[in-house]
Amino acid sequence: MNKIQVTQSSMPHFDDYVNEIKDLWDSKWLTNRGSKHQQLEKELIDYLNVSNISLYTNGHLGLENILDAFNLKGEVITTPFTFASTTHSIVRNGLKPVFCDINPLDYTIDVDKIESLITEDTCAIVPVHVYGNVCDVEKIEEIAKKHYLKVIYDAAHTFGVTVNGQGIGSFGDASMFSFHATKVFNTIEGGAVTFGDASLSSVLDQLKNFGITSPESIDYVGGNAKMNEFQAAMGICNLRYVDEEIAKRQKVVQRYRSNLEHEEGITLVKEQPGVKSNFAYFPVVFDHYKSTRDQIFEKLKEHDIIARKYFYPLINEFNCYKDDHDVKDTPVAKYIADRVLTLPLYADLSLADVDKICQIIKE
Ligand SMILES: *Cc1c(COP(=O)(O)O)cnc(C)c1O
Repeated sequence: MNKIQVTQSSMPHFDDYVNEIKDLWDSKWLTNRGSKHQQLEKELIDYLNVSNISLYTNGHLGLENILDAFNLKGEVITTPFTFASTTHSIVRNGLKPVFCDINPLDYTIDVDKIESLITEDTCAIVPVHVYGNVCDVEKIEEIAKKHYLKVIYDAAHTFGVTVNGQGIGSFGDASMFSFHATKVFNTIEGGAVTFGDASLSSVLDQLKNFGITSPESIDYVGGNAKMNEFQAAMGICNLRYVDEEIAKRQKVVQRYRSNLEHEEGITLVKEQPGVKSNFAYFPVVFDHYKSTRDQIFEKLKEHDIIARKYFYPLINEFNCYKDDHDVKDTPVAKYIADRVLTLPLYADLSLADVDKICQIIKE
């Protein structure tokens, strides 16, 4: 059996990509809002069902920029059960992360614990649609309205997800999507920010291009985070196949579920009502199972199957954060982080391999 990685990038047919980039050899326009960039922007507004979008060279810089664009000061409520990027983007903006615990059902922010963390310094909430599970967007909006807080979602995992038909990127003040190679939809590296207030467009354009507002004026201390034409071309190609890819992922997930859902000591996330999923990840929590998470991780590795302890360690256990934060403040996140494993999941993973993986777990 070949090595099975936790994920495998979706790629278009080679000829498809070559065709798509051919005209770049005529135009010699390789970045800075070229024609591919503009086309992908339009197609994504449509696909994601959002009103405004700004493309980025990666998702992380998109998140940094949108936090910057809102001119926030003070404390930001977020969760430690996520990828490093979420917290880093807050801290790199000079803001203070305040960690809220997650709920034990879908591992998104526990909305019943947000209000007790709000102080006069709180300016925003940065919740994460972790694993593609949708946060309680209604409750979060209610809290944000009541306390005049911005809501910026880390939607890195939720490409193409809808809630009662509404694009996930249309909730809150803004959302960040990642188009990294390992995500459901990729532009090799890449990302986007979606937002409701159209006037943010020009601010983001400037923040990601050195703060340049016109050839002779620079109004912001901006960085460089533009998506180039080769990335956009990859996106245009991958977007043609993404529905097919998601359908294949769904089959893989269904197979995992039928193999594991009746195992005592294994907890799977329930399907969320009204949510059209993208089947981004398949997290499994081993809770009083016959083997521990770490034993299963090692056992799979012996068979050349690479699962991932995602998310372990928690962000409030990172060396760069642990002095200022106490993991005891987020006990549910700690409990899940110590027991969760995301199993290999990608469109071309065969159902026979899924069965094999589950067999090894059950042994
Ligand atoms: C992938 C990811 C990011 C960062 O996205 P990049 O495109 O890799 O910069 C941020 N947050 C979460 C939760 C992610 O999984």
